[in-house]
Amino acid sequence: MPMATPLQVSCPQCRQPTLYGPDNPWRPFCSARCRGLDLGAWASESYRVPASGSSDTGSSDTGGSGDAAGEPPATGDGTRH
Ligand SMILES: [Zn+2]
Repeated sequence: MPMATPLQVSCPQCRQPTLYGPDNPWRPFCSARCRGLDLGAWASESYRVPASGSSDTGSSDTGGSGDAAGEPPATGDGTRH
């Protein structure tokens, strides 16, 4: 496992291979342009949060007991905030 190999990812905006490292200030994007575009899209996306309708998206996941997806269940470790 070579440690010097920079991590290469696909730009979320234009799908171009780009380096994910300190050399790339726009990571994980390939350029400032793509980064700005994605931020704009992301902001727009946040405005269309489903308030009504679309009852087929997570009909059983939106319960009060369900934690956010991707969050590992806390196992006695209460030091993480
Ligand atoms: Zn890009």
